Amino acid sequence: MKINIIGGGPAGLYFAILMMKANPVNEITVHERNGPDDTFGWGVVFSGRTLRNLRDADAESHAQITRQFEAWDNVDVVRGDEKISVRGNSFSGVSRLQLLKILQRRAQQLGVAILFHSEINDIESRRADCDLLVGADGINSTVRQRFAEHFGPTLSVRSNRYIWYGTNQLFHGLTLTFRENEAGIFSAHSYKFNQTTSTFIVECDPQTWEQAELTTMNEADTRSYIEQVFAPDLQGHPLLSNNSKWINFILVKNARWAFDNVVLLGDAMHTAHFSIGSGTKLAIEDAIALAESFQRHDDVSEALLEFESNRKPYIEEYQAAALESMLWFENIRQYLHLDPIRLAYSLMMRSGRVDPEELKKRDAAFVAAYEAAIS
Ligand SMILES: Cc1cc2nc3c(=O)[nH]c(=O)nc-3n(C[C@H](O)[C@H](O)[C@H](O)COP(=O)(O)OP(=O)(O)OC[C@H]3O[C@@H](n4cnc5c(N)ncnc54)[C@H](O)[C@@H]3O)c2cc1C
Repeated sequence: MKINIIGGGPAGLYFAILMMKANPVNEITVHERNGPDDTFGWGVVFSGRTLRNLRDADAESHAQITRQFEAWDNVDVVRGDEKISVRGNSFSGVSRLQLLKILQRRAQQLGVAILFHSEINDIESRRADCDLLVGADGINSTVRQRFAEHFGPTLSVRSNRYIWYGTNQLFHGLTLTFRENEAGIFSAHSYKFNQTTSTFIVECDPQTWEQAELTTMNEADTRSYIEQVFAPDLQGHPLLSNNSKWINFILVKNARWAFDNVVLLGDAMHTAHFSIGSGTKLAIEDAIALAESFQRHDDVSEALLEFESNRKPYIEEYQAAALESMLWFENIRQYLHLDPIRLAYSLMMRSGRVDPEELKKRDAAFVAAYEAAIS
């Protein structure tokens, strides 16, 4: 089969790997507009379950990924001088750049052609030239836009602003920190992803953003302003920028995921708010699901049909949970009056994916402390 993949992010590379492993006769080309080292972002988060999926799908790249990762089991909620830790959560952080390097090498070893600095705008000619065209071209997908009448996309731009930094301050566990100043409330989502670096995402509502005059502040002043807001947490470590800019989260959905010989994957197809840390996980698991459908069907339209009908209910459920999580952070002003233990409990329950029994299994001492606090 001849496959053209637009986009060499996690979704496109992982799908290329699996399809080449399944049949080395496949002719697979990945078109990536950037160079091999030009990625953005810091660390990505995987749950224990996602790592097991990676191991089952491709043990070689899994072994390399897990050699470089940082694992933890605690979610820490920090407010004022207090920190509440909730244990029993299995997660790990990996550098996005390292992950992409591992996937690029693995794909090339298997015989995938990765064409860097190859931006594709003429989607139609790529489609005509192959059996399967994969739009793994991220949140602003050109493939999705070109065939919008088939995919029926909806894009909802959310009101909160967020910015993606790194720092050499190490946050051992997923650390959610809330700081208030005269402008309003800032939330930070942070976790270490290697031995020297943590991801540090800062989020605030539009009122806070305007009151703090971040609308007009340049990059250096923005960084130093945010360093001051989180001074007790960063403990003198600067924030590291990688072309970091304030953005609004965009919730992407598509009524249909495939038509004829074209399919979307990853962020091009759906997004889930970063507060449940799953953009990369979902992108890779999409690739696994699509490759599995091709193991069961030689016919492209049958494989695409099965992929969409099997995977869509899972993604819809996931997006619903991510929506609840996003709304919790958008409405943070409603929760900050809570004392730290109630705040931590509310945070753990926000997406509806963890119920009280599950939370008790993860950390019975935390649940006991919460029950004592509310009785
Ligand atoms: C600013 C920013 C920072 C982020 N940082 C992190 C982070 O630190 N950790 C994390 O977990 N998630 C991060 N994310 C989210 C994460 O990137 C995605 O959820 C995840 O990478 C989705 O994988 P993907 O393969 O679907 O898309 P992407 O990773 O976005 O990959 C799509 C690829 O397609 C390429 N492309 C796009 N259009 C074309 C074209 N026309 N021709 C050729 N190539 C094209 C792009 O260059 C890109 O490499 C970040 C997102 C943003 C916007």
